[in-house]
Amino acid sequence: MHRRRDLSPGICLSRGLAEAVAERLRTSALDLYALGDLHLHISGCPNSCGRHLVADIGLSGASRRINDHPLPHYTVQVGGHVEAGQTRLGEPVGQIPARNVPDYLADLLSAFAASEQVGDFGAYLAAGGRQMAADLISAHTHVPEFAADPAYYQDWGAAIGK
Ligand code: SF4
Repeated sequence: MHRRRDLSPGICLSRGLAEAVAERLRTSALDLYALGDLHLHISGCPNSCGRHLVADIGLSGASRRINDHPLPHYTVQVGGHVEAGQTRLGEPVGQIPARNVPDYLADLLSAFAASEQVGDFGAYLAAGGRQMAADLISAHTHVPEFAADPAYYQDWGAAIGK
């Protein structure tokens, strides 16, 4: 897995999310090096200074109101690529709460690691991984009531939500 991450602040605190994702993957059972040259880009807003549109997995910050409270979200795009003559933009597969992104990515990468296409994320997407990326969005949209867990409504790296 490519270790460099493109980060930018914006609607969401992308640096906070990057730290949370790194920690989640570090403590997972995943062999990150077996995943190949996979690019994960995180941008704090949709305007693409983090170049999420050309990443294998691109995340861009968004805000939604859930349970009458603003809740940081990320739009997930997959399949972006940069190469002479073959550059393409990623396609959106859905939005998930910022707090659920690390577990979502761990599950998506675990599914990729267990696939016959491990090491080639583009091939994995074409062989059903795109649908898996969308299906896992649905599995990671749960949000607690605000009164039950107010910290959940804070972004990664925000004061009370660290
Ligand atoms: S494009 Fe968005 S994330 Fe990037 S610097 Fe501008 S506001 Fe921040």
